[in-house]
Amino acid sequence: MATSIQEVDLSDKRLQEILSVTNDWALCNGISIGSGADGVESEKVLPAPYSLFPSVVPAPILEHVKSTMTHFNRLMHKVSMDHEFLEQSLKNVIQVDPFMQSFWEVYCKVRESGIKQPLHLGLFRNDFMMNCLDDSVCPNQIVSTDRQELKQIEFNTVSASCGGIAGQMADLHRLSLGMAGKDLKPEQLPDNKPAVGLADGLVKAWELYGNPRAVIIFVVSTSERNVIDQRWVEFKVYDRNPNIRILRKTFLDIYNHGYLDDHSRLIIDGDEVALIYLRDGYTAENYTSQKEWDARLKCELSRAIKCPSVQLQLTGAKKIQQELTRPGALERFVSDPQVVNTLRDTFADQYSLDLNQEGDAAVKLALLSPEKFVLKPQREGGGNNLYNEDITTFFKEHNGSKERSAYILMQRIFPWQQKNYLVKPGVPFALSDVVSELGVYGVYIGSADSEVVNFECGYLMRTKNQGSDEGGIFAGFAVWDNPLVI
Ligand code: ADP
Ligand code: MG
Ligand code: MG
Repeated sequence: MATSIQEVDLSDKRLQEILSVTNDWALCNGISIGSGADGVESEKVLPAPYSLFPSVVPAPILEHVKSTMTHFNRLMHKVSMDHEFLEQSLKNVIQVDPFMQSFWEVYCKVRESGIKQPLHLGLFRNDFMMNCLDDSVCPNQIVSTDRQELKQIEFNTVSASCGGIAGQMADLHRLSLGMAGKDLKPEQLPDNKPAVGLADGLVKAWELYGNPRAVIIFVVSTSERNVIDQRWVEFKVYDRNPNIRILRKTFLDIYNHGYLDDHSRLIIDGDEVALIYLRDGYTAENYTSQKEWDARLKCELSRAIKCPSVQLQLTGAKKIQQELTRPGALERFVSDPQVVNTLRDTFADQYSLDLNQEGDAAVKLALLSPEKFVLKPQREGGGNNLYNEDITTFFKEHNGSKERSAYILMQRIFPWQQKNYLVKPGVPFALSDVVSELGVYGVYIGSADSEVVNFECGYLMRTKNQGSDEGGIFAGFAVWDNPLVI
């Protein structure tokens, strides 16, 4: 098996020619992000960080992640409806993590107030890496499919981003590979349009709300750099129905100008809100004061459909992912044993760090070989995990303290390494050793007792330098890539 890049033999001059074309092609075709220089959304745009060529993904792996997605969608929705499971899983976390406790309080208030809106919309992304099974060939050699296993990194239930720009990457790579003299079969760079599916989910939820005059709000941050990615989803909504009005609002807008009427309808600037799509509100920095929390509560108490509802957001916690790896946990939600096995096969080893014998054993394991683990807090957006000696330091400082319950310990995945050129500002342009993370998008609409919509809608491939522990494009590590299917 060979990578595309190793088969590409180009002079530096030709590479630079290709690069100057792809940089402008990226800008012209919406592979772009805000410069972030002035903190104002979209004032200036730059080409988004991207890989010059696609990275290889074996066809069975891509097929497999796509085929499991509807099962994962349903699983996560069902978990979010199971109060007992959520409470049992999160009870120790919320005692020591004030951020998670705030979400829990919002959730409890929603429960007390009674159900105003039975439907929940999930626009999900389920992230995986291909783990090398064989230490002797890992990480520097190309590994055949049977020596790799697909492992879930995390399941995102809130603000799962990057699907808009991901939809442009196959065209960019057709161009770059074509200029490099590579002739590919069409099925090696398939079309991939996650934003179309995400928009279909939004449109369907808006229709289900049942008021054609009501608006959709995208809850966004004023310092957002990923505006173009969000706009892609918005444009695809207009492709379906240009009469739907989408308004971009911050939590402060909702706090200042939004209110609940006598029927719990959320009204903002005179418009009734059918659907609230959060592209903000997933990280502590998004709640700088009580006003943002009050706005979030207002949204949650309303009749508007939420994407996600607070309980669906809680379900995306790393702690829930870890609890789902326990024997019997999946069976609580999935009746088909074959599906249980298929999902469980993708789970990496994970350990609770609660202050008990089980947690003590996990700490011991991590201290013995910290390089084999990732220590994860209940946070989103990249850049929050601990690795290597930071794990050791953490446990030395927190051993025997209940603060450690806010984290989970996870088996570290050592993904298959390839070569590619990463194009991102401040990084020298050179052929590098890289690793990839493959995410699959899914759309789900359901209530406590019904499933209304459930489908998979494309994928995101992110690639980073081999030596980088963390991931995340906006955390500064990864770039947009696209699978070259072999
Ligand atoms: P976040 O919600 O912040 O994105 P993740 O669980 O996705 O949290 O972790 C961030 C990044 O850390 C991932 O994109 C991946 O690059 C890396 N990572 C996470 N878990 C593992 C793991 N078990 N093994 C190797 N790398 C991991
Ligand atoms: Mg995440
Ligand atoms: Mg992630």
